[in-house]
Amino acid sequence: MLSEFTSGVIYIRVSDKSQEEGYSIPEQIRDCLKYAEERGISIIEEPFIDAYTGTSMDRPNWMQLKGVVKSKSIKKVIVLSINRFARSTVAGLVMEREIERMGAHIEYVKGKYDDTPQGRFLKTLELAIAEYERELIIERAKSGRMGKARSGYVVVSKAPYGYTVKSDGKRQWLEVFEDEARIVRFIVIWYIRGDEDGKPLSIRQITDKLSKMGVPTRGDKGTHTNKKQAAGVWNRRTVHDILKNETYAGKWHYAKTETRGVGDERKRASTDPEQWVEVDVPPIISAEQYGLVQERLKDNLEILRGRPSRYFNLLRGLVRCRHCELSVRGNYQPPRKNKDGKETSAQWSYVCSGTDNVPKICSLPAFNGYRVDAVVWDWLVSLLTNPELVECKLRARQAELNEINAPYLERIATIESLITEKRGERNRYISMAGRGIITEDELETLAGRLVKDIAELELQKAKAQERIEMPFSDEEIAAIVADSHRLAETREDFINASDDLKRRNLERYHLRVVLEAPAEKVRIAHVSCILGSNELEIPFEKKFTQACWFHHPDYRYYNRSQSTTG
Ligand SMILES: [Zn+2]
Repeated sequence: MLSEFTSGVIYIRVSDKSQEEGYSIPEQIRDCLKYAEERGISIIEEPFIDAYTGTSMDRPNWMQLKGVVKSKSIKKVIVLSINRFARSTVAGLVMEREIERMGAHIEYVKGKYDDTPQGRFLKTLELAIAEYERELIIERAKSGRMGKARSGYVVVSKAPYGYTVKSDGKRQWLEVFEDEARIVRFIVIWYIRGDEDGKPLSIRQITDKLSKMGVPTRGDKGTHTNKKQAAGVWNRRTVHDILKNETYAGKWHYAKTETRGVGDERKRASTDPEQWVEVDVPPIISAEQYGLVQERLKDNLEILRGRPSRYFNLLRGLVRCRHCELSVRGNYQPPRKNKDGKETSAQWSYVCSGTDNVPKICSLPAFNGYRVDAVVWDWLVSLLTNPELVECKLRARQAELNEINAPYLERIATIESLITEKRGERNRYISMAGRGIITEDELETLAGRLVKDIAELELQKAKAQERIEMPFSDEEIAAIVADSHRLAETREDFINASDDLKRRNLERYHLRVVLEAPAEKVRIAHVSCILGSNELEIPFEKKFTQACWFHHPDYRYYNRSQSTTG
C-alpha cells in the first residue's frame, strides 16, 4: 500500500530563560526533523519559533503557523513535547483545538496520546502537571527569597543606584558606592535646600542640572540594552524614584510589589506596606532628610491636584514628530500679565517630546496649536462632506475589519466549545458522585480543577473579544452617508462643532497626524485617516486663514465685541 504524501510544519517554543532548561533550539529542531523523517512527513516550511512564555496564547509565530496550515492544507504540526508546547492546561487545549478545527493534528515527539478518552485524559494530566510544576517553582523561589529578607539580607537582581551588591553565594547585602552615593546626596540637598544659589530645585531642574553636568547614569555604564537616551541624559522618573526610595535612609524593603493575575494577564502591583519586610542597609542620607523630601513631594502632589481642570486637547495622543518619531504633546499657557501690565493672550502649541530632553534630541519648532487644529479639522470636514467617498471607504474598512477579526472569532468559537465540554464533564462528575462511583473528596478535586479551567477559558475568551474591532454595520454606514449628504449642503454644523463632537469624529475615523518642519517658515502636517491621507500646509506667522480664525478662542469674543460696537 502506498502511503500518501503527508505535509507538516514544526513548531518550537523557547521560554525567555531557555538556557536554564537545557534544550536548545537546534536540538529541538533536530529531534522534530528526525521524528518527521521516520514517519514520512514532509516538512515544507522553516520551523516556526516563538520565544514566549508557555502560558501565553498570543504568540506571533503561532498565528502565522495557523495561517500556513490553513492556506496550504497541512496535515501535521510537530511539537517536541506537550509541556514544552504549553505550560497551562487551557492554553494547550485551545491551541490544539485550533489546529484540529483546520483538519490537522498536533504530533508530540515525546509522548504519544491515543485519540481515545484515556489518551485525552493522559494528555490533560500532563498539561496539569506542567502547570503545577511551574507554580511550585515560583512558590519555592518566592519563599526562599522571603526567608532571606526575614533574616536581614537583601534580595536584588541589581543594586539600587548608590550601592553595590555583595554576595557570599547564598546571601546578598548592599555596600555604599561612593561615586554614586555623592550624586544621591546632591539630589536630596538640591531638592530640600537648593544648590549654590540657595533656592530649592524642582525635579525637572535637578534632571537638567545632572544632564548638563554630564553625570553618568546607571544605563551608561551597565549593559542596559533598552536605554533610549544618549549617555549622560537623566530623566525625571529616575530622579523622582531616587527621592522616593527609603533605601537611601537605610531601610530597604522586600515584597513592595507582587505578581497578580494569571497567564499573560500577569503584572506587578504594589502591595500594602504592612506586608513589607524591612532590611537595614547602610544609609546614604539621614532619616530627617528623607522625611523632608517626602513632605515636599507630598506638597507638590497637592498643588498639582489643586490646579484648575485641564484644558481641552483636541489631538491628544494622535500626533507624532516626523523628525524623531516621538510623540508630540499639546502645550497650553494661560493668559499672563507682561511687564507693562498688559494681559497676553493664551498660547496653544504642539511641542515634540524630543525637545524636552536635555540636550535636545529633536529640533522641531513648536507649532501653533490653533492653526494645526483648524487645518486638520477642516481637512476631515472636507472628506466627511463627500458622501460617495465616505460610503466607499467605510465599505472597504468593513471588509478589512472582517478579515482582521476572523482568527479571533475562530478562537472564540473554539473556546466556547471547550467551555461547553468542560461544563458537561463537570456535570458527569457530579452525577458520578451522586451514584457513589467517586467520593465527595474526589469530586471536589476534579470539579475544582474544571472550575479553574473554565474561569481561565472565560478569561481567554474575553481577551480575544477585546481584540475585535466592530466593523460599521450596514445601518451605521447608511446613517453616516445620509449625514454626509446633509452636511455637504451646509457646513454650518461642523464649523460650530463642539470640541467633543470633533474629538469623536477624529477617533471614529482613526485620524493620525505627523508634524514636519522641512524648511524655515514651512510647517507641514501629514494627516491620515480611514477616509484618506494628505499633506497639509500649516499657515505660518500671522497668515490667518478664515478657517483658522473660526477656531481661535478669541473669535467669539471678537465677534461679540464687533456686534456690540456696531
Ligand atoms: Zn521630534
